[in-house]
Amino acid sequence: MKFSILLISTYEMGRQPFGLASPAAWLRAAGFEVRCLDLSLDSLDSEAVRAAGLIAFYVPMHMGTRMAVPVIAQVHQLNPQAHLCCYGLYAPVSAAYLRRLGVESILGGEFETGLVALAQRIEEARARGGEEANPSASSPPRLLASPPPPLISLDRQSFLRPDRTGLPSLTRYAHLVTETGAHVTVGYTEASRGCRHLCRHCPIVPVYNGRFRPVQRDIVLSDIRQQVAAGAGHITFGDPDFFNGPGHAVPLVEALHAEFPHLTYDVTIKVEHLLKHAKHLPTLKKTGCLFITSAVESFDEQILAHFDKRHTCQDFGKALTLCRQASLVLVPTFVAFTPWTTLAGYRAFLSELVRLGLVDQVSPIQLAIRLLIPPGSKLLELEEMRARVEGLDEARLSYVWRNPDPRVEALQQDLEVLVQRCAGQHVPRREVFRQVWERAHGGVEDPQGRVPFPELPPVAGFIPYLTEPWYC
Ligand code: SF4
Repeated sequence: MKFSILLISTYEMGRQPFGLASPAAWLRAAGFEVRCLDLSLDSLDSEAVRAAGLIAFYVPMHMGTRMAVPVIAQVHQLNPQAHLCCYGLYAPVSAAYLRRLGVESILGGEFETGLVALAQRIEEARARGGEEANPSASSPPRLLASPPPPLISLDRQSFLRPDRTGLPSLTRYAHLVTETGAHVTVGYTEASRGCRHLCRHCPIVPVYNGRFRPVQRDIVLSDIRQQVAAGAGHITFGDPDFFNGPGHAVPLVEALHAEFPHLTYDVTIKVEHLLKHAKHLPTLKKTGCLFITSAVESFDEQILAHFDKRHTCQDFGKALTLCRQASLVLVPTFVAFTPWTTLAGYRAFLSELVRLGLVDQVSPIQLAIRLLIPPGSKLLELEEMRARVEGLDEARLSYVWRNPDPRVEALQQDLEVLVQRCAGQHVPRREVFRQVWERAHGGVEDPQGRVPFPELPPVAGFIPYLTEPWYC
């Protein structure tokens, strides 16, 4: 009898975890019994932990990885014989730390093949004498004879349709709020992984290093089909950049719209691609795209250059105009606080949001985001960065840095608390923005450059949004 496998996700930004559903399909196809546990909604099932021979944590992002750390310790205590694995974007960059917590296998990049190979190696080890090494029939021996799978695999995979059996219902995840105030059930899928680009601050770069891997179109459509059948009226495409391969993405949304004319979706596209592939924007609109998220990061040219974003503030202005001409909502995201952010620069950032009419389009958390520098970050190649970095805080999975201006440090901490509190109280975006403005102008020791809160233009139109305020 094959041993059972437990796949655990701690947090995937309010989405039903694709990172559990996809490997579950591969492992079940290989004959393994798989249980999926999403700890963002359900509590840890001790029986499932004790019964598993392999327990694998999906760690696609910073916060999810940090949340996984105490669970790894708990799981290790409940079932010290289980083989522990972490997979996903943050696994290889945090490998040394995770291994010290007792995680034996680390898989990054295209992880499905690696997970199946790992499960098969454990099974083979059991067949070679695992029953002796470990009297529990459901648990594998801890030591595996054959070499481990590669830390990062970028092999091209023939994907399987994600198997969402056993995951919480889509209705329990973040919803889309529409103009009428209706809450629409949201599905999530990925049409590609990785990215062609090398932005220095991006956690994808140390793993994919400028490569992207499309998921076969029939698999993506099939996954969407099953989510629509489960009630989804809107799909979030989680591709790091939907236009890394427009030849893949555009026919996909055309086929999607032909099959589900009322289904809406959202995507993430970088400024450079919005300009380069502007001719496809009307197609996105026509096929049901409700909004485009774009990692603008900053309105400061020097910071954009440090990040190697390959766009300027002027480029962003053009991209915004193009989206507005196509009647597409552009939702910019920012890294508001960096080692190079000045008080004047932060105030200018807020003013620019007002000038561009973006106050209603920016999620308030974006006004307080602090730069994360995970291990392996290309930012550390910059002398300007190394000069500001104090050292790696392993438990925080990030290098520690401090802004040279203590007022900026204090403002960031203040705003982080403010926006979190406002999110909990569902304070409207304009009101949060006003409070942020007041803190940045009135609450900081610097009478020079203070500007009273400007009168905002009337709301131009409803901005659809997802009921999940975190984007990191
Ligand atoms: S920030 Fe966006 S465009 Fe840049 S490397 Fe990351 S995913 Fe790609």
